[in-house]
Amino acid sequence: MRIGEIDIHPIADGTFRAGPGYFGDHVTAHGHEDLFTRYGKAWLPIGCFLVRTGSRVILIDAGMGPEMRDDGDRRLLVGGQLLVGLRAAGVGVEEIDAVICTHLHADHCGWLFDATAAAVFPNAEIWIGAPDWQHFVQDPNVWMFDHIRHGLQNVDGSRLRLIADDTTVAPGVDIIMTPGHTPGHLSVIVSSGAHRVLILGDAIVCPVQLDEPTWRSIGDVDPDLAARVRERLFRELEGDNTYGVGAHFPELRFGRVLAGQMRRWIG
Ligand SMILES: [Zn+2]
Repeated sequence: MRIGEIDIHPIADGTFRAGPGYFGDHVTAHGHEDLFTRYGKAWLPIGCFLVRTGSRVILIDAGMGPEMRDDGDRRLLVGGQLLVGLRAAGVGVEEIDAVICTHLHADHCGWLFDATAAAVFPNAEIWIGAPDWQHFVQDPNVWMFDHIRHGLQNVDGSRLRLIADDTTVAPGVDIIMTPGHTPGHLSVIVSSGAHRVLILGDAIVCPVQLDEPTWRSIGDVDPDLAARVRERLFRELEGDNTYGVGAHFPELRFGRVLAGQMRRWIG
């Protein structure tokens, strides 16, 4: 995907297998066999997005890292491929000058630090929603991988960008706050002229939520707020020149909402 002079390159770090129960106890595969395609489960990516402007190399989300987490029928996360994908795109870890984490769930910050809590991207600023810092990093009762928490607690302060309001990262790359899935969840707008791409993290987990507005995510910290923000974002995606993609959209395909009597997703 190209927006003006800015290149957006999706990279899958691994696989996110979601059973219907991931989207809520009331959800079944019935009528959605096109999503739950194999063993009654959806096989979705753990997505990251490499954004290259004329002057900056920005990574949006840092995957799961070489780790896995098995929550049984509802969710299985297996990461590990981000660095392969970066290499295939011709980008070394030292060239990344900013990592924007849409939020601090394990499958979005996993490559920030290695198992010894050393920085994987040694020259990168790390952008995080400040309420996520408080919710995850500062509260020992909220689960994170230990090496990620330690890495964040010890990160060089000059590299850390904690933000609470909409912010510009680089010309054509802006952050908007989209809380609900997590308290400090953020999304990124890449734009040039009238053309925009919204990189949504988990603010919309899957386009199926357009047709099924009661489908949530078991990860939603505030499900009601998450649902309201999701609807706001779907409305943004009704714009003619606006496309969106989430970290777990099937095949990391960009799409938009066709407005009208029967709104529908076109990817
Ligand atoms: Zn996620």
